[in-house]
Amino acid sequence: MSDSDKKNVLVWGHIHHAGPDLLNGRNDVSLEIVEDVTADIGDRLATLDGIIVRTQRIDAAVLERAPRLAVVARHGVGFDAVDVPALSQRGIPLTTVGEANALTVAEHTLFLMLTLAKQGLAYDAATRGDDWKLRETFSCTELWRKTVLVIGFGRIGSRVSRLCRAFGMDVLVIDPYVPAFRIESEGHRRIEDMAAALGRADYVTIHIPLNEETRHLVGATELGAMKSSAFLINTARGPVVDEVALHHALKSGAIKAAGLDVFDTEPPAADNPLFNLDNVVLSPHIAGISSECGARMSLVCAQNVLDAFDGRLKPDHVVNQEVLRGNR
Ligand code: NAD
Repeated sequence: MSDSDKKNVLVWGHIHHAGPDLLNGRNDVSLEIVEDVTADIGDRLATLDGIIVRTQRIDAAVLERAPRLAVVARHGVGFDAVDVPALSQRGIPLTTVGEANALTVAEHTLFLMLTLAKQGLAYDAATRGDDWKLRETFSCTELWRKTVLVIGFGRIGSRVSRLCRAFGMDVLVIDPYVPAFRIESEGHRRIEDMAAALGRADYVTIHIPLNEETRHLVGATELGAMKSSAFLINTARGPVVDEVALHHALKSGAIKAAGLDVFDTEPPAADNPLFNLDNVVLSPHIAGISSECGARMSLVCAQNVLDAFDGRLKPDHVVNQEVLRGNR
């Protein structure tokens, strides 16, 4: 096959080699990798048939310069940085990695909960600093018999709920889009009134997409309704929580502590006031990036690109499924 007949695929960002290996195995695909997510890829857009992206913005201006584009494949599941209506208008599917990172993010959520409960950062510092007096404070707590409020019962939230139950926690779930039986058949309690549940929860953990409905879903009012002994965990998207209100709640003692993987601006500015607090545990938007998951996500997004070319996309991996109906 001549080069001009091949489908041009760009992997924009550093991903595990499994996906590029799969793409390179096809003699009808020409692959290019640009590892720097801040690179200007403008010149390449005119000839692209498929693109794999991390969290970069894909909007109408990008699409306008990419007349051949037949698939945008996200190396992840959140798609708030992609202009989905603009893609749908062009009939271009937006794919995600489906279940590939759910377990990893769920584990990371438990990592943050346990680090807060067990004061992991303070213990490490005390041990290195020869401060054994910490053993006399009896200040760490247990997950057992605590109440967790899980906001969003999708791929990640449902796994977090199961892990929390395995720790003996009482699990309350808010997700108006999931039928009650799916939540209750796993032994959790479905909640409709978030305000009341916030006052009962020892942990509140967020697993919903960022959109106009969910931006600042947790703000000053919600933080004010939480117990002063409660912990907030956010591994979803930064702007789902009002970061200024969160800083205030943490500083004033309105809530006890927070575990955050995501921020308003990423990476956060060096003078982000959250960095001055010792009742936060932070990670750099890495909840879905274990070694195993990196390989899975890379493979799934490469397979999504090939499936789009071959006309056999898995509907579960397509955000704008209406374009599939249009194509069939
Ligand atoms: P999902 O689509 O399977 O689940 C989202 C759930 O949220 C759905 O069940 C939906 O009904 C529910 N929901 C939507 N709006 C709601 C609202 N207002 N109140 C309560 N529930 C609501 O998605 P997922 O795979 O579980 O991922 C969830 C989010 O986690 C993603 O959108 C993404 O932004 C984020 N994420 C972050 C990382 C990371 O590295 N930190 C990795 C993967 C996903």
